[in-house]
Amino acid sequence: MDKSLEFLKSMSKEELNTLRRTIESILFPEPIPVSIDHEASDVRKGKSAQEFPHCVHCGSDAIRGHGTYNHHRRYLCVSCKKTFTDITKTCIAHIQKRDQFRQYIVCMIHGMSLRKSAKQTGVCLKTAFDWRHKILHALKMTPRQQLRGVTEADETFFRYSEKGSRKLSRPPRKRGGGKGPGLDDDLVCVLTAKDRSSCPPVIETVGRGPITSKRIHEKMKGSFNHQNLLLCTDANNSYKKYCKGLSVLKPIFLKTQYYQRSSRISIN
Ligand SMILES: [Zn+2]
Repeated sequence: MDKSLEFLKSMSKEELNTLRRTIESILFPEPIPVSIDHEASDVRKGKSAQEFPHCVHCGSDAIRGHGTYNHHRRYLCVSCKKTFTDITKTCIAHIQKRDQFRQYIVCMIHGMSLRKSAKQTGVCLKTAFDWRHKILHALKMTPRQQLRGVTEADETFFRYSEKGSRKLSRPPRKRGGGKGPGLDDDLVCVLTAKDRSSCPPVIETVGRGPITSKRIHEKMKGSFNHQNLLLCTDANNSYKKYCKGLSVLKPIFLKTQYYQRSSRISIN
């Protein structure tokens, strides 16, 4: 299952409502005022530079107003001569049924299945599938804060699903089996980390098979604030190797048995 969906399921009702309002405010900003000429004039004079600083194609801040396109402000980049609007390269850039898309976000936040969401919003299953992935991709692109202070990290495993595949790369499974977490290449390792702040946890798919220090380096790049980090993990050697070369403040490695028994320090 997608880790972003897992994350959504772990949120409370209030948090989900706040998330929905935030997404809606980003995706559906206030309608363009009647005085569009005035707005374009402001852009030309650079008054909105902070609000809309860069060209979405080349990153230049030399942009000017260029009328409207599909009821959205249009801009011309002086550097690359390309035009773009407020929604170019966003997840609603090519969506025609915006009202239904708004309803779809609500369905997704409430954990409805693709079929139910499609029925509720009046779109076909393929569209519902595409929209889900557009939203998940947009969530993934959202910048996040680095974890700091007391931070707990652990890995969890999910069976690699080949549901729907017409050519299985392995013999069909008969109710579980396998060597167990960390030993079986048929399991997908997911690394999770959370500090004591209200920031959302970091959840990264590491790959199939056991976790290694190299994989932790690759996946957690930029997620930890090494100057102010007290990392608590189990006694897995991969974490020890990971901490060795870094200036992590007093890493704490807990014995597996104790780690499993204590509910106070478990991140699960
Ligand atoms: Zn440009």
